[in-house]
This record gives sequence, C-alpha cells and structure tokens, in this order.
Amino acid sequence: MEETADLNDQNWIHGSENCEDNMDPPIQVVQYNSHTWILRQNKCTNYEAPFMFLFFGNDKALLMDTGATEEGDIFPLYETVKEIINNWSEKNGEVELIVAHTHKHGDHYAGDGQFKGKPNTTVIGHEVENVQNFFKIKNWPQEIVDYDLGNRMMKIIPIPGHQASSIAVYDTSTKILLTGDTFYPGRLYIKDWNAFRISIERLVKFTDSNEVSTLLGNHIEMTQTAGVDYPMGTIYQPKEHQLPLSILTLKELSSALTNLGDTPTKEVHNSFIIFPVN
Ligand SMILES: [Zn+2]
Ligand SMILES: [Zn+2]
Repeated sequence: MEETADLNDQNWIHGSENCEDNMDPPIQVVQYNSHTWILRQNKCTNYEAPFMFLFFGNDKALLMDTGATEEGDIFPLYETVKEIINNWSEKNGEVELIVAHTHKHGDHYAGDGQFKGKPNTTVIGHEVENVQNFFKIKNWPQEIVDYDLGNRMMKIIPIPGHQASSIAVYDTSTKILLTGDTFYPGRLYIKDWNAFRISIERLVKFTDSNEVSTLLGNHIEMTQTAGVDYPMGTIYQPKEHQLPLSILTLKELSSALTNLGDTPTKEVHNSFIIFPVN
C-alpha cells in the first residue's frame, strides 16, 4: 500500500484571534499521497476557510473547488495549483486541468477567474445543466456516472439539497468520498429538505456497495467538544473537530433525517448540526 497522510491527526491552519499576527500561508497544501493533494484556505483571507481537493490521473488533474476569494494576490490558488501540476508533470507527463465544483456557492467558486483562459484548463459551470453536460449525467439526480482522469476512475454522485447542483465525488483509487457542504463536521445548511433527505439516502446506499476509506467535506465548524460549534463567521478556530467523518456518522445523519420526517428541524449531533434554512 502507498503511504498516505493521516488526516485524523492533521493539523490544519485555523486562523488567528488577531489576523494581523497570522503567519500562516494563504493556502495550506497537504499532500495526501503521490497523486492527491488537499488544500485549505486561510481563515484570515475568508472566514469560510474551505478545503479544496486535487486529484491526478494519467491524462487529467481534477481540482474540486476554487475557494472563497477572487483575488490572486490575496489568495494565489492558481499559482499554488500550477506549481503542484508542474512538479507532477516533470515526473509523470502533461495533464489537462479540469476545475469542477462541489456546488454553486461563492465560497467554492470565487477563485474561478484565476483559472479561466489559462492553457490546458477547463472550468466547468455552476448550474445543474453545466454539471450534467460535462459529466454526461442524463438522469439527474438519480444517476451516478464515471469520470476517468486516466487510469483513475472518479464517480460523480448528484446530491442536491444543500444547493441544487451539489455533487459528491468518489475516488476509486484512494476510496475518498468528497461530500462538499452536504456532510461535514459543521452546520449542514439544508435548503431543500426533501431533496437533502433523498441525497443522504443515495450516499448511504453508495457506501453500502463501495468501499470508502473516509468522508471529507468542505469546512470544519465543530469544535473537539461534542455538539459544540464555533460562532458563525469566526476567524479563529482552535481545537477543531477533525475533517474526516465516518460512514457510521453518515448513517447517524440518515436515521436522524428519517426520524424527523417531513418537517425541517434543527438538531444538534456530536459531529454535525442539522440546520434547515428558509
Ligand atoms: Zn455551500
Ligand atoms: Zn461552503
């Protein structure tokens, strides 16, 4: 087995009480294995501090999300990704960069402009039909499709509910399942309650028939204390909950949603908070 970073023990940059004293880079780069990277935006550039993911296959590199800040001088995402790609290409050959999104919220696509018009780069649109067309998903949201990066098959799983064009992404190589803002250690903002319930069922069913090593979402908003989240908009998160969640925790969410039935209801759990909006 190839060596991988231990994400349960990963120390992420997590902002500062006073951002003028913050010495962290604007983007933290963590190499998960020889062909997978995880990036985190500095809270002092935007409190959302989203995670971004970069997967390499023989032909394509897939970047999931472009963060919460447009400006390349404050948040040099393109530069950072380009450097990783250049180093990769020296050893493994040229790849085309595909920029996709977990969903259409500004904290996940603000950096798109840095990538548009760059050589060998495709930036996918944010609407359901853009996602459908690019990944060739005929039957949205029921259909799960394959997307090949070149000897590395990804699976694209539509999961509307947090937002209409939300997708989960499964990597058959590392068995990582990306769950975006739909499932992460934080406040699970639910826009469409019914669609969200069905999407979580789809994810549970997927994990029943596919080996999953870990579930990774796009934010951390829970502390290490069970059921306690940070205040909304905070720029400092000491003692964060770990990023990875387990299938067991996904099933906890699923049965909680079943028990709550048709009525959107806020409910606090140890590692997440069901948080209907509207
Ligand atoms: Zn979102
Ligand atoms: Zn978000």
